[in-house]
Amino acid sequence: MEEQTSGATASANEQFVVVRLATEYLEQFISLGSWIFAWQPKKAMRTESAKACIVDTASGLIIATAKLSVISPVSSFVQLRSCRPFQAAGHLQKNTWRNRITSGNSLFEWTITEIDRFSDSMVVETGAGRTAYVSARDFRSAAPSLQALTLKSSAEYFVGRLSVRDRQLLRENLQSLHGKRLTFGSTCSGTDIIVPVMKQTISVLCKLFNVSIEVVHLFSVEFEKQKREFIMDAHGDSGFHLFHDVAVFRDGGESFCDVCQQSHAIPTATDVLVSGPSCKNISKENRRRSDYLS
Ligand SMILES: [Zn+2]
Repeated sequence: MEEQTSGATASANEQFVVVRLATEYLEQFISLGSWIFAWQPKKAMRTESAKACIVDTASGLIIATAKLSVISPVSSFVQLRSCRPFQAAGHLQKNTWRNRITSGNSLFEWTITEIDRFSDSMVVETGAGRTAYVSARDFRSAAPSLQALTLKSSAEYFVGRLSVRDRQLLRENLQSLHGKRLTFGSTCSGTDIIVPVMKQTISVLCKLFNVSIEVVHLFSVEFEKQKREFIMDAHGDSGFHLFHDVAVFRDGGESFCDVCQQSHAIPTATDVLVSGPSCKNISKENRRRSDYLS
């Protein structure tokens, strides 16, 4: 099967029938080169040059365009069983199609060729209703603008810039974390800006991808007393531990914790550890920065 990755190469006047499918089905549609639908495009779109614009229902992104080479009615079980998508389908999907034949309704097998996978994030504006016909000039970039200089807006902006494939990978990762608790700690904390960044970013991701993930700030480590006081004021309401010295943890040691007012070990149930060198060491103002850069 011919499959390219070039993005929006269609000429502006070219007409497309919009096909919306859930991610799992559209990937099957593209890999098999055919799928079974309960409808067929209007007659004018059943010509040799007719094209389909395949859209992911979940994200609204255009995944590919393709030539609609054959559309054939499927009205018997014998025909249905001979269709490749039927052979590859799961139990539930097979039943849906069988039931339609049983109740006397037609199905249509659509065969596509010249599949052009989109690498750019594009969406298409369509009106209400199940069938939509659009031209390539209705394709729009999905890249959002940065609405405000907030953590929430930045997270939305960068998710919007992901490619179709990266967005799908992110969705899968987030779904695997659904209902779970994500714990994190930071060393060389400074202002501990990572605390609101983690919380706000995960909160935006949960909303965008309809998952629920609890984010828990377990601990911070900061050598300078003044900065520890700042961290305590800024993030001190979350029941975390605030250690003095990161070096002692190297051999499983203990450090004094300002919250517990005693020395103890770092919490071991940490999923994410955020760490960074002191910025003063590698600052351009520091004449000895080359010692630290290596
Ligand atoms: Zn503690």
